[in-house]
Amino acid sequence: MSLLSKIPRPFHGDVVVRQEPCRICGTADGKRIGVVDYWDIRTSSVILCGHCGLAQLDPMLTHEETAKGCLAYYIEESLRVTQHEHERNLVRNYRRGIHFAHTLKQRGANPKDVLEIGPGSGYFLEGIKAVFPEIAITVMDVNKEILDFNAQQHGYHTIQATLEEHNASLDARFDLIIARDILEHVVDVAAVIKNLSAYCRKGGLFHFITPNGHEDVWKHYLTFTDLHKNSELLINHVNYFDGKGLFDFLGTQGFTPVEYYTYRFKTSLKGKGWKRAAELRAAVSKKLEADPFVNERIHDVQEMSFDKKKVLSAWYLKNPGGTLARWICAFHHGYLLTLDPFHNVGHEIHGIFKRN
Ligand SMILES: [Zn+2]
Repeated sequence: MSLLSKIPRPFHGDVVVRQEPCRICGTADGKRIGVVDYWDIRTSSVILCGHCGLAQLDPMLTHEETAKGCLAYYIEESLRVTQHEHERNLVRNYRRGIHFAHTLKQRGANPKDVLEIGPGSGYFLEGIKAVFPEIAITVMDVNKEILDFNAQQHGYHTIQATLEEHNASLDARFDLIIARDILEHVVDVAAVIKNLSAYCRKGGLFHFITPNGHEDVWKHYLTFTDLHKNSELLINHVNYFDGKGLFDFLGTQGFTPVEYYTYRFKTSLKGKGWKRAAELRAAVSKKLEADPFVNERIHDVQEMSFDKKKVLSAWYLKNPGGTLARWICAFHHGYLLTLDPFHNVGHEIHGIFKRN
């Protein structure tokens, strides 16, 4: 593949002493490849670790800063996205859950106890439950509103906790653990993965998706190297993963791969991760104020409620465990073209790992 010899393009930058050591490998220096403003809350460098390949904010956000920025982002997004769009996303996540569950079934897995961290709307789990009706579902999140929504809408068991905190009562409790689009957000990714490894039974499965870090951080890299300016980080991606580094770290935590690939390549074709183009840069920071969102605009956010029956009323979802639903969900959410994440090409990394 000739394209793969061109992309991704390596990062250049000065090697600097970090304010905090790399959270995965403890290395004390790294390449400075960006400077980001997290709202008006914090300015951090983006440092690429030369040892394990993880790019991270340095200094990292605190839990309080993350919570405040997340709330501000949630409010900003709620005011921007319509009810109709929200409902379409719920259906998509439900279909993704169905597709994922059928993949597990094909592999001979029959999970009984699932934990999802950062469950969002909970509709991905609903899709899993449609295929495995007996499955017991627990969701964990730091945010009470999310948990209340999951309890009220789906009746899931909820745990409010910081994901970095180890909860010994959960050790070896689950045979399926899910972390979709959450690992890039956590302050201490090594601690979180360590915990998940402890919560997973031997032989159990760990499923995650997370952005390909090389592509995800590219916009900040361009703003920094082309314009020498801080870029805006409203959505708190604080970790940018290298395909090999993530794989190796999971190995040290007792996980062996079942499926590991990147998917969705439109963004790669547009140049993310390799092309120097103005339109690929992250917006120059305006240090958007978080307080007005958190204190004032929160009153404009209407309590969101969804009629689940109506949301999931499509004809092909009537029998979600059946062949027709399986095909249609696979058609929408299956990926024919995938690559080894070691290439760091593609939009998103998908993993299913088995706990040894
Ligand atoms: Zn490192």
